[in-house]
Amino acid sequence: MTELTLLEKIVALCKRRGFVFPSSEIYGGINGVWDYGPLGAELKNNIKMSWWKAMTQLRTDVVGLDGSILMNREVWKASSHEEQFADWFVDCKLCHARFRLDHLKESACPLHPSKHPGDCGGELTEPRRFNLLFKTYVGPLEEESTLTYLRPETAQSIFVQFKNVLESSRMKIPFGIAQIGKAFRNEVNPRNFIFRSREFEQMELEYFIPPDTGFQYIEEWKEQRILWYESIGIPRAHIHVRDVPEEERAFYSKKTYDLEYDFPFGRQELEGIAYRTDFDLKQHATFSGKSLEYYDEERKCKYIPHVVEPSAGVDRTLLALLCEAYREEEVLGEKGEKEKRVVLGFSPRIAPIKVGIFPLLKNKIDIVSKAKEVFRLLQKHFKSFYDESGAIGRRYRRMDEIGTPFCVTIDFETLEGVREGALVGKKNTVTVRYRDSMRQDRVMIEELVDFLREKIE
Ligand code: ATP
Repeated sequence: MTELTLLEKIVALCKRRGFVFPSSEIYGGINGVWDYGPLGAELKNNIKMSWWKAMTQLRTDVVGLDGSILMNREVWKASSHEEQFADWFVDCKLCHARFRLDHLKESACPLHPSKHPGDCGGELTEPRRFNLLFKTYVGPLEEESTLTYLRPETAQSIFVQFKNVLESSRMKIPFGIAQIGKAFRNEVNPRNFIFRSREFEQMELEYFIPPDTGFQYIEEWKEQRILWYESIGIPRAHIHVRDVPEEERAFYSKKTYDLEYDFPFGRQELEGIAYRTDFDLKQHATFSGKSLEYYDEERKCKYIPHVVEPSAGVDRTLLALLCEAYREEEVLGEKGEKEKRVVLGFSPRIAPIKVGIFPLLKNKIDIVSKAKEVFRLLQKHFKSFYDESGAIGRRYRRMDEIGTPFCVTIDFETLEGVREGALVGKKNTVTVRYRDSMRQDRVMIEELVDFLREKIE
């Protein structure tokens, strides 16, 4: 399988099985915007819940925030986005494609894909600058005084609410504020499926620290974040840490690590971890005229806290999980014939559906009603899916393809302990079939919830 076709296969599977659809598709779509279907919504929620739990439940030094997307325009002046949040781009005079100036070496000419833009005979225009903020107007008048922007990152509401959170939650430095939410960037060239979109979701933590501790905490957060990726099924060996050189860092950052992943289209950023110094709080204190100083009782002094920020993308994490999980295998079918099986080998913790429940035969009333009873039992605990249509092997394959780690089948043995006329086992047992090994175990219905919970957690 070549790497490019891997992405094509993932895109096709996402559409076919309801993970990701192009937004507004029936109208021809809208470039760089995607909708998450039933399974994509589940998967995305699981990623977010895992991050939220790791940040705000398993730690005592982080609290959450759910800030607004629209904010006072002054925020974006203070943060420097209005002035500086821009990319340079060039157009090809021959094919009229547009490229980000800093992405030329990783872009391909649409007419000659083996060549980079500019190396293909097409002449490029002079670079032009383009601000990525999406403009909007608050209220009925569209004029300068009502202009603001859709937020391009979630971080700013954390800085702006720093004092309110500090006072209401009685946190003490070092402490963090975590937020998950939508961000919008009018990207020059959205591409690579959900990797670079114009509307996406971020999971950001601003960790407030004393001024002289930034270099220490950025190392700690780098390690914590790699542990989190491991916990959701991306092995440490697949996360590449890049120490971003000064000329590529945001001007306010004294140190930045990018956590990168080998996507089918190359090694690219999954998350940035930046030591942002006291830049943001200082700017907001200056622009708002409100003090954002903190009195440190241990150090007996006042200061503007410094910040380390791990900033991750939900959509990029989801894409990395899909790339990590996708595999094709040759297996023996029910009649001993060779067949291809597509598997999404998600970690059970993150899988959109945890368990499929099947009656062996759909025309045996007793088996069907027992299967529905088992479904009602399991759905209280896990995202479950009931399916009675088609041969049992086909039902297993459908679950493999969407990454469901366990399937439970209700058969004659469940009702009577009888298989093919002979007493072989205990009544009230079901088979649990494992996605990866395709092995099956027999489990008592009354023990099923604990059995599955242990395997999922
Ligand atoms: P890039 O260099 O790839 O444009 P960035 O360095 O501008 O990314 P940050 O501002 O550090 O990105 O944003 C933090 C995270 O938000 C990124 O690591 C990424 O996971 C996510 N992100 C940023 N821009 C996009 C986008 N256009 N589409 C999807 N996710 C994004």
